[in-house]
Amino acid sequence: MKKCVILAGCALALFTASKPAPSTEQTSGIDRANMDMTANPANDFYRYACGGWMQKHPLTAEYARYGSFDQLNEENQTKLKNLITGVSKQQNAPGSIPDKIATLYQLGMDSVKLQQQGGAPIKPLLTAIAKLSTRKELQKELITLHKNGIFPFFDLTTEADYTNSKMTIAWLYQGGTGMGERSYYLDNDERTKEIRAKYQEMMTKLFNLSGYAKLVKMPASKLTAEVMGLETELAKASFDRVTLRDPHKNFNKMDLSKLVAITPDVDFATYFKSVGLPDLKSLNVAQPQFIKEVQNIFKTTKPEIVKAYFAWYVINTAAPYLSSDFVTANFAFYGKAMSGREVMRPRWKRVVTTINGTLGEAVGQMYVEKYFPPAAKKRMLELVHNLQDAFAQRIQASEWMAQETKNTAISKLKAIHIKIGYPDKWRDYSKLQIASDSYFANILRSNQFDVAYMLNKVDKPTDVNEWLMTPQTVNAYYQPTTNEICFPAAILQPPFFNQQADDAANYGAIGVVIGHEMTHGFDDEGRQYDLTGNLKDWWQPEDSKKFDERAKVLSDYFSNIEVVPGTKANGQLTLGENLADNGGLHISYIAMQNAMKKGDINSDKMDNFTPAQRFFIAYATVWASNIRDQEKVRLTKTDPHSLAQWRVNGTLPHIDMFLDAFNVKDGDKMYLPKEKQALIW
Ligand SMILES: [Zn+2]
Repeated sequence: MKKCVILAGCALALFTASKPAPSTEQTSGIDRANMDMTANPANDFYRYACGGWMQKHPLTAEYARYGSFDQLNEENQTKLKNLITGVSKQQNAPGSIPDKIATLYQLGMDSVKLQQQGGAPIKPLLTAIAKLSTRKELQKELITLHKNGIFPFFDLTTEADYTNSKMTIAWLYQGGTGMGERSYYLDNDERTKEIRAKYQEMMTKLFNLSGYAKLVKMPASKLTAEVMGLETELAKASFDRVTLRDPHKNFNKMDLSKLVAITPDVDFATYFKSVGLPDLKSLNVAQPQFIKEVQNIFKTTKPEIVKAYFAWYVINTAAPYLSSDFVTANFAFYGKAMSGREVMRPRWKRVVTTINGTLGEAVGQMYVEKYFPPAAKKRMLELVHNLQDAFAQRIQASEWMAQETKNTAISKLKAIHIKIGYPDKWRDYSKLQIASDSYFANILRSNQFDVAYMLNKVDKPTDVNEWLMTPQTVNAYYQPTTNEICFPAAILQPPFFNQQADDAANYGAIGVVIGHEMTHGFDDEGRQYDLTGNLKDWWQPEDSKKFDERAKVLSDYFSNIEVVPGTKANGQLTLGENLADNGGLHISYIAMQNAMKKGDINSDKMDNFTPAQRFFIAYATVWASNIRDQEKVRLTKTDPHSLAQWRVNGTLPHIDMFLDAFNVKDGDKMYLPKEKQALIW
């Protein structure tokens, strides 16, 4: 599974090919207004570096968390809106890509039509479900729903074969729960119980609103109780998020005949034939114990309950695309109860997000033509190579690894496949039909189109040139099975890179992000894959042991952080990301020093800050944000990244150069003695 630098957007920057040499014209890249000079950097560096920004950007009702990367996201949304509305105003040939974008936008924005249609767009699906009676019919319906991109019980997806990463194979993956995270079903603290109550409240409301309760002549509350029971069984059989990070535990390739033998009542032979994989011989059953539970539920649960569960999946998938009563109920749970957001995003933003999902690369193509200068790609590539060199230098200088492990690590580092800006080949949307029937009908056709597209990859060579993010996404990723790093165009822009600024700040921001992605190839998960992307141990056993000991320092440290009173961070879940931040900082710092030796960086104080200070302030600024307590708790349960505050105040005490730069001493809150610091890459 690919790993992103941040949850929803991040820090990279626009470098142009004609980067000016250091001169008096350049700024430091540090905006003092974003800082809080009254805070002591040695005690609370986050407040010192970001306090001003946080005060200037209080949370609005629309947000559960708002950070400097959300700010970039906001600006990006406006750009996308302008592109989309621009297309909507012109005359488009029927069926052309611009016509598809324009039609979908109009349907999403047409609140009158959405209101008139109410729940009508899902009526045919619900009526079909209500009529089912036999187990065989239920099995058939499962296939129909999955082909429509609605996934009750489990997910069907495609990923590399971990034993032969050149090939893509079919994967069955745990899923089938509306709250997505098992602990929401199983934990019994007050907050979780309240979330559970709100989830059921939403379900009951929507069973009534959609007319399904009436259709099957059962009280909505009864349907809700049954569905909740079924989802809880699935949650119990699911891996927790820490176990999901273990590639060995989640790779269980088996012959289809074996799967069929252990799950006779689900009838996977027919399933694969009908979804469009008639020749499937083998696949990865990522969590076998979960699939066995699906078999168990299929065998023992009354058809009415499975039907209610199917209906719930349809309603819950469709709710954001129906009339306002559906949308509001959906938001009351997923927005308010779960994250603490107070108001919904405006309609246009939601529609832009939808179009990004359905016609992503078509919008992306327009986006890069308008906003991504080819020169930026060249400059970014230079920088990635500088980071690659610095990483190799650090591996060579490392004191804890045998030379043999070092050599293999460097070969893997050099083999990293680099993607910048946008794909060379764009996806073809000509077969996707967008019509004016209803907003949701288009979502459904788009789902069908995407499922077919995905399944077309099965048992074929992995397309290493495919992009797993659209160019207009404000984020970056590392994918272990292709050993690739990717930096979409949208993240390669200000405010995270300042073209007028000296590069010390840029190495602290964009440089650390690049180093972060590279380190993912060598974090606790990524290090288990070799340079071709196969899950294959290339470590000397002694070095492997030392790695685990060193990594444990970091996971133990983070597990001790209290994020809100009574809730601690999960050092195991966030280990890979914390390792990537730790490595990214070390590597980019070396790269900055290399650049300084070449005279590419102003070694004097600028705005009264040394280059090292500018580096660390810029790093922290990337994570400037405000966040609600509910969102802190939700992210701590689900997000493999540490909270922004701790990516600064938890990460930096482990970086010796930081302690030096700000003269942090024993007794200061940001201080950690050398023997307690985590030093891996
Ligand atoms: Zn990451």
